[in-house]
This record gives sequence, C-alpha cells and structure tokens, in this order.
Amino acid sequence: MLVDSHAHIYDEYYKNIDDIVESAKENGIVKIINCATSINNIENVIKISHEHNFYYALGIHPEDVTNVNEKIKEKLENYIVKNLNDKNFIAIGEIGLDYYYGKENKEDQIKLLEFQMALAKKYNKSVIIHSREATLDTINILKKYNIKGVIHCYSGSYETAMEYIKIGYKLGIGGLITFKNCNLKNYINKIGLKNIVLETDSPYMTPEPFRGKQNEPKYVLETAKFLSKIFNISLEELGKITTKNCYKIFDIKD
Ligand SMILES: [Zn+2]
Repeated sequence: MLVDSHAHIYDEYYKNIDDIVESAKENGIVKIINCATSINNIENVIKISHEHNFYYALGIHPEDVTNVNEKIKEKLENYIVKNLNDKNFIAIGEIGLDYYYGKENKEDQIKLLEFQMALAKKYNKSVIIHSREATLDTINILKKYNIKGVIHCYSGSYETAMEYIKIGYKLGIGGLITFKNCNLKNYINKIGLKNIVLETDSPYMTPEPFRGKQNEPKYVLETAKFLSKIFNISLEELGKITTKNCYKIFDIKD
C-alpha cells in the first residue's frame, strides 16, 4: 500500500498512461498525486487525473515564472475555483523557488510563490513545494502562512529538514536517496519516518537500480524498499506509515 505523492503524468511525457497505471497497481501503488507545473498543462492534468482517479495539485512551477502575468494568475485561480469541490483536487502545487539557473528573476519567483500561497490559504488547500538553492527564502515565505504541505524531492541537511517539519511540512523522499552520492541516507533515520512521504517526481529522478530510465510511479517501490532497510522495518509497515502521513498532510479521507 504505497502512494506516489508527486508525479507528472501527462501527455507531454507519456504515451502509454494506461500501462503506467497498470504497472503501478501491480507494484502496490494505490494512489498517485499528479502535479501541474504550468498554465499550459493544468487542463491535461485535470483530464488525466479524472480518467485515472488520481489525486491532483494545481499550480505554476517557478521555472515557468517568465510566462506568468496577471491574466495567467487569474486563469489559475479560475481553475482552482472550478475544481474546488472535486475531492481529488488536494493541493496547490507544484510551486516554489528555484535559483539553480540564476537569481535574475528571483523577485518574480517570490511574488508568484506568495500569490499561490495566498490562494492555498484562501481556498484551504495544502501545498507542494519545490525549493532548489533557495532554502532561506523558501522558509521565510512558508513561515508567513500557516499552511501544511510537502517539501518535494528533499535532499537538504538535517537542520533544514527539522525547520520545515517544525512549521508543519513533511518531506517528499524519492529516487534521489538511492543515489550513491546522496548524503540524506546518512541522517534520514534521525529525521524519522513520521515526517516522510514517498514520491517519484516521474518522469525524472528514477531510483537505483533503474537510474537512467524514464521514471514512473511503479518505482516508488524501489525507494520504499531502500528506506525499509534503513529504518529496519517491513515494507508493509513502511507503506502503511508513509501513506498515512500523506493522507494526513493533504486531508485525504480514504
Ligand atoms: Zn515535480
């Protein structure tokens, strides 16, 4: 009983979504959270999520910031309002800050994140946060809103992890932790299983031993196996706890 709390399952990346859903089921993945990243894929995310009974998150990724204007923000809010009563619409995401490619549009990214945090507050949704090389700014913004959510694809330090957890967030752990050079595996035990949800970030970040292939939700099982060894508990128990964490953070009553 595993959940992939973060995937991008749209036509842009996959031609065989039926097969992907089938193999996910065969590997014990009971639910997928499908995350939009742009006003251009929101419609497709909603459509595919309806077809396959995925949970989904609507939002604009920081890498898409240059395409955003007032009209697009309005459009985003309209999509949120339109789907507000759909029980599968569970979060605002994927949103955040990304300074990896530079800080030229830092102010715009911050404005966009604040706008979307305010939407989450207004419509009572959790958030799915992307933060790369922007930890301080991310924490400062999240602190201003009293919202819960997931810091997706977490790979930072123990201290930063505890700061996020203190303000109501869980950490999304995916394929990265199985990589040889990832330090997170050395202190994930100390962070504790109650603070973790599983994810793939499909089509990216495929875990070992499949690194290099296109990622899909079924590979959540590899990360789960890897973590069950670290935490020295059964795969079943690990699945139970991480799924419970996920449902709690997104107010899913299943
Ligand atoms: Zn993502």
